[in-house]
Amino acid sequence: MQRTPNYDLHCHSTASDGLLAPAELVRRAGVNGVEILALTDHDELCGLAEARAQAKVLGLRFVDGVEVSISWGEITIHVVGLNIDPDNQQLQQGLQSIRQGRAERAKKMAQDLERVGIPGSLEGAYAYVDNPNLIGRTHFARFLVEKRYVNDVKSAFQHYLVSGKPGYVPHQWATLADALSYIRAGGGIPVVAHPGRYKLSRTEMRRFLGEFRDGGGVGIEVVTSSHTPEQSLEYAILAKEFGFLASRGSDFHGPGESRVDLGRLPDLAADLKPVWHDW
Ligand code: AMP
Ligand code: MN
Ligand code: MN
Ligand code: MN
Repeated sequence: MQRTPNYDLHCHSTASDGLLAPAELVRRAGVNGVEILALTDHDELCGLAEARAQAKVLGLRFVDGVEVSISWGEITIHVVGLNIDPDNQQLQQGLQSIRQGRAERAKKMAQDLERVGIPGSLEGAYAYVDNPNLIGRTHFARFLVEKRYVNDVKSAFQHYLVSGKPGYVPHQWATLADALSYIRAGGGIPVVAHPGRYKLSRTEMRRFLGEFRDGGGVGIEVVTSSHTPEQSLEYAILAKEFGFLASRGSDFHGPGESRVDLGRLPDLAADLKPVWHDW
């Protein structure tokens, strides 16, 4: 039987909240044996050109991607768009509209942290930002680690920055319908990111997956660093039930911060139709 190439279809660079510049990220992927890599920065395409150029130098196949933030009712869900056209105007404008509001949210997050006795977090978070259009919670988490309020980024998200904790500011992202239409306009394949991470009951998850499919969504991440083996199995079953293509991605953000390195995930189960089936 033919060996499946090492696909990693979800990761982040300094164009959003990753620690490595796009070219560095691609070099690391190459060293780790990744053969087909998608860069999927949050709501942003500006890292793709550099990553693609470096991938070309290394002879690594590169897939243009993006991870779009959406609000579905009260909860935030991420949808990855794979094989998008970074020059598509509708996609670009859609993402720009999603990015707007991040700066304002960041100011409110800093005010909220100030109220619990943490000063200077706005400047502190911006010190970790490479792309001024894309400040996010991870940048605040790094600041909280630097100032020793917490020991690591994971603890920062346990004690701060999440619903019910200081530094959390609810935010209205794109609607599911809008996100799907932007990705579709850009010729991309919409894929539900790390489904196991959302606080949804089984019933709500099914309702979401139904709406996602009805709106033109076609894929779901089955193997991701966010999933336990049991969750991978659970979402493999849902992928088959809903007729979704299955994806695999590390969601790597940086050395020392991510549990799973680029290209170091288990294989997809053989009975799933992979998202790269027709590539
Ligand atoms: P934002 O888009 O600014 O709300 O930030 C979302 C990002 O925060 C995610 O993409 C992750 O990189 C990070 N994040 C969220 N929850 C956690 C967590 N529990 N542990 C580590 N990072 C997290
Ligand atoms: Mn992130
Ligand atoms: Mn995500
Ligand atoms: Mn991600």
